[in-house]
Amino acid sequence: MEAATQTRLLDNYVAGKWTAATGSEALDVTNPATGETLARVPLSSSADLDAAVAAARAALPAWRDVSVIARARLLFALREGLNNRREELARSVTTEMGKTIGDARAEVARMIEMVECACAIPTTMQGRILEDVSRGIDAETIRQPVGVCAAIVPFNFPAMVPFWFLPFAIACGNTFVLKPSEQVPLTQQLAFEVLDSLGLPEGVVNLVNGGREVVEGILDHPGIDAVSFVGSAPVARIVYERAAKAGKRVQALGGAKNHMVVMPDAVIDQTVKGIMGSAFGAAGQRCMAGSVVVTVGEARERLLPALREAAETVRVGDGLDEDTELGPVVSAKAKERILSMIERGLEEGAELLVDGRAAGDETGCYIGATILDGATPEMDIVREEIFGPVLSLVHVDTLDDAIEAVSKSRFGNGVSIFTESGAAVRRFKHDVEVGMVGVNIGVAAPVAFFPFSGWKDSFLGDLHAHGPDAVEFYTRKKTITSRFYSSGQSGRYFVEN
Ligand code: NAD
Repeated sequence: MEAATQTRLLDNYVAGKWTAATGSEALDVTNPATGETLARVPLSSSADLDAAVAAARAALPAWRDVSVIARARLLFALREGLNNRREELARSVTTEMGKTIGDARAEVARMIEMVECACAIPTTMQGRILEDVSRGIDAETIRQPVGVCAAIVPFNFPAMVPFWFLPFAIACGNTFVLKPSEQVPLTQQLAFEVLDSLGLPEGVVNLVNGGREVVEGILDHPGIDAVSFVGSAPVARIVYERAAKAGKRVQALGGAKNHMVVMPDAVIDQTVKGIMGSAFGAAGQRCMAGSVVVTVGEARERLLPALREAAETVRVGDGLDEDTELGPVVSAKAKERILSMIERGLEEGAELLVDGRAAGDETGCYIGATILDGATPEMDIVREEIFGPVLSLVHVDTLDDAIEAVSKSRFGNGVSIFTESGAAVRRFKHDVEVGMVGVNIGVAAPVAFFPFSGWKDSFLGDLHAHGPDAVEFYTRKKTITSRFYSSGQSGRYFVEN
């Protein structure tokens, strides 16, 4: 890469054009594996946000009148455009965020799957009708777009998470403003290059780079009708409360602390693979990362030796190297925070079963696979999100104890159980207070055509991301009750004999 490219100041994308932000501040975007500065991201001003919202609002009347099949065709074209650049997108994810290239390819595949799911909009956006709700009177519910919709997204899925929202929003006839994470703004530059090539009417999709000020501007902006947020739990709460107060439709996906329960009859080698992928994939920086293993009864003795060996042999390095199994965490600041949480665990009385603190080279933000044994549900390392490659082990005697340990958490994003017992699974999935459950699957993130349905502090709102919930979120229902006298439809309404 040339030096000039490395330090380029990124543009926003507003009203169909790449536009310089007017904000005077900018931040470095850094490759966490090498420390190299990849670009500068502007902290856009409120005037920049106003311009994007004005463009989205101006585009709305014409865009919502574009036929649904024409909107779907644009999504098919978007799918092709992304598919043609999938390797470039994946390399961008790894370069700015750090996850391994294999993981980044899987993320881009899921991003494209979102678009594929949104292509079904001529079917999924249909309303319903019932004749003769009263004699000669019909009722119908139709779905219409909500208006100008905004999404605020986190650093850990630079490609996929923005696409939990964008394709569904525009498929439903809304216009859209995206605020990417200022830590990883590059991948969405590529995605918007693809969007730009489609010939969408100007203003249908807009990109505003920035940080907290842009987020606060979105929450208060009178020109924005709906807000989708994904990020940490404290910010999710601020977004939810402030956007709701301003009368907006809002969904706010927050942090997590996902447990993995291992029963005595689990198939150990497969369970270890599942736990390793879940705990250490993306260096533990997934909202669906498993960060606590709860062993039940004899499971502990069966699991520990194999888990320890697997964690000790994980290959740490630059995610672009095809052999790397564990890339860097996103920043030096994140590394410092994660190391302090490991210290906290040791102070709380947990013991290091595997110590990854010295892994990797000095240049990158590396932490190797780390396992803390002897943890309890009361410890901070089990209660708080660490968001790094750190796994805590809790031991209990029965399935009931395991369900209690899981449900105690204030979070309720994902959970997994490893067992061959149908009866244990039935009890577990019925009783556990978590929104996404994996059975012998470590990262049970739902596919695009099902909703991503965290509970408790992991999700504030009513309608979840993607799948059928996306169509619900991005449409308003209008119910029409009608009759026509000239054709003899003269029934009484309200009182039917
Ligand atoms: P974050 O909350 O720091 O940032 C998310 C977004 O909010 C960014 O765009 C950022 O610019 C903005 N922001 C940050 N601080 C803000 C503030 N004080 N006021 C207004 N806006 C602010 O989250 P992150 O570190 O980028 O991402 C990691 C977090 O996201 C983890 O907690 C993870 O669990 C969570 N996450 C959740 C899901 C889910 O589906 N529940 C998915 C992915 C990530």
